Amino acid sequence: MTPEEVAELRTRRYNGTVVYLQKLHSDLMVMRVKPDFDRPAHQAGQYCTLGLGFWEPRVEGCQLEALKPEELSKVVRRAYSMSCPVELEPGKLYDPTPTDWIEFYIVLVRENADGRVPALTPRLFALKEGDRIQIGEKVAGHYTLDPVHPGDNVVFLGTGTGEAPHNYMLWELLSRGHTGKILSACCVRFGRDLGYVELHRRLMGEYPNYKYLGLTTREAGLTKKVYIQDLITAGELEDHLGARLDPKNTHVFLCGNPKMIGVPIRDKATGSITYPQPTGVIEILEGRGFQADVSATKFKGNIHFEEYW
Ligand SMILES: Cc1cc2nc3c(=O)[nH]c(=O)nc-3n(C[C@H](O)[C@H](O)[C@H](O)COP(=O)(O)OP(=O)(O)OC[C@H]3O[C@@H](n4cnc5c(N)ncnc54)[C@H](O)[C@@H]3O)c2cc1C
Repeated sequence: MTPEEVAELRTRRYNGTVVYLQKLHSDLMVMRVKPDFDRPAHQAGQYCTLGLGFWEPRVEGCQLEALKPEELSKVVRRAYSMSCPVELEPGKLYDPTPTDWIEFYIVLVRENADGRVPALTPRLFALKEGDRIQIGEKVAGHYTLDPVHPGDNVVFLGTGTGEAPHNYMLWELLSRGHTGKILSACCVRFGRDLGYVELHRRLMGEYPNYKYLGLTTREAGLTKKVYIQDLITAGELEDHLGARLDPKNTHVFLCGNPKMIGVPIRDKATGSITYPQPTGVIEILEGRGFQADVSATKFKGNIHFEEYW
């Protein structure tokens, strides 16, 4: 493809600009995108799409991609939760009113176990500030704070970048002066993958009802080497929350790796349910009287979830 053809495709297909890009390390970043259109109305926890053309370069060290000539001019799109800086300066909650960008928290997928070559993130990680991108005009998703009442305890459990919507919901709760306890735990492989950890440490000092917990699975150190499921069964989550996990006044939000979430499979004919293995958080919590949302609209329980794949 000639530089002129690439320039023409970018002009025609892109509708947003990368206005901020912070690489937390080579495979993790916070990126803000300013759409050419007005920032769409949205709720904390929702997502929109980002897209780049197959003609864009990919960072090195990723699974190799073989494209057919007719694919080169297409755009690949994926869903991304809207994240939130929570505080742009210490002690002052972020004010969305003058904001014309949307924040995203993205991990580079270098290789896919199922053989499908990751198409978008190797290209997103080649971007720099000022570059153009496609951003979806429609914001979607039912993973929001709608079911939460002011005094409820709220537990956010995420893996990796599954923390993104939780940061936005945390901002919303803190802005509303939420009186219940709030715990956000995030499980990653290494400590360096906790991209917002400094912010959370500060917030804990500022809000007595807020607690953040970083968990690592491949590194012993300052953080605990446990999976979220272990934390619940050992009773440690309740210790950190400072309250019992009581289904009457607690909402649990689960986001990221489907194995951590463990969405049950429902047999439509018999109504029976089967939990996937290894045991996920939903099975553990339903054993304690919680009930997971059945679908976005059918039944709202007190376990809400967003699977990233
Ligand atoms: C509603 C929704 C919101 C999402 N929000 C985010 C977000 O805020 N940040 C983000 O990084 N991703 C998010 N994702 C995942 C995102 O849509 C892409 O799947 C991901 O960025 C990989 O894209 P890709 O084209 O490079 O690879 P793909 O070809 O799409 O590869 C998908 C595979 O990559 C792996 N994978 C996908 N996402 C992740 C992840 N976050 N962490 C570790 N492994 C992953 C899985 O093995 C999955 O099978 C979200 C997905 C959904 C459905």
